[in-house]
Amino acid sequence: MIQDTKYKLTIGWLYPELMSTYGDRGNINVLTKRCEWRGIRVDILNLSVGFDIKLLKNINLLFMGGAEDIQQQIVAKDFTVQKIKALKKKVEDGTPGLYICGALQFLGKYYKDASGTKIKGLGIFDLHTEHPGAYTKRFIGNIVTRSDLASPIVGFENHGGRTCLGDNLKPFGMVIKGFGNNGGDKTEGAIYKNSIGTYLHGPILPKNPQIADFLISKALILKYGAGVKIKKLEDSLEKKAHDYILQKIASFE
Ligand code: GLN
Repeated sequence: MIQDTKYKLTIGWLYPELMSTYGDRGNINVLTKRCEWRGIRVDILNLSVGFDIKLLKNINLLFMGGAEDIQQQIVAKDFTVQKIKALKKKVEDGTPGLYICGALQFLGKYYKDASGTKIKGLGIFDLHTEHPGAYTKRFIGNIVTRSDLASPIVGFENHGGRTCLGDNLKPFGMVIKGFGNNGGDKTEGAIYKNSIGTYLHGPILPKNPQIADFLISKALILKYGAGVKIKKLEDSLEKKAHDYILQKIASFE
């Protein structure tokens, strides 16, 4: 059990100024607090436009929030071939990461935005996303899903893009209530190695702390070895917030 401060994690926050909608930055607060409550020191490293790929070397956990189409166009210009290669290596090496909405779209091959502009993705996840156009239905509202990591997961989605997963990519969850990846096949997000892509804002982690602990635990194991176990935290407030949203959603049915 971790009780002292010999453990330290560095969280790399990709494009914090451009990619953080609907409270996504709250995920950074949750990751930081849940580490600190366990005596794990945390450094947050902002990876803004033009960041040096050398910075990725010491990063133990990656986070990227959602964005509007215009910000996605700006960020896409920063993805040089070297940067894509370096990020892909992090994911392939098992670096845990949380990628919300527009960031999930970035993990895939491309995102065709509302204006029809094709924004190149990192091509790490076998998925692609297309927005059917500015005057089509946006997928907005509270959402409930189930996944192996936590169930039910509650969150809030707001996206125009419809994401289709390739045959070999596992969804992060299955939709119980809401739209999910495309409003059709009930899949929500995607999970590959220790990287989670999801449409759930809210932010997702305060009300679903098991997901935060999954990421923290994987980051510690990758850095310090398989024997590291994180202490369980008292989560009654988190559970209350989670159940409140769940009840609220159920009462609209
Ligand atoms: N711009 C993207 C879409 O509308 C992503 C939205 C978001 O990240 N909230 O699909």
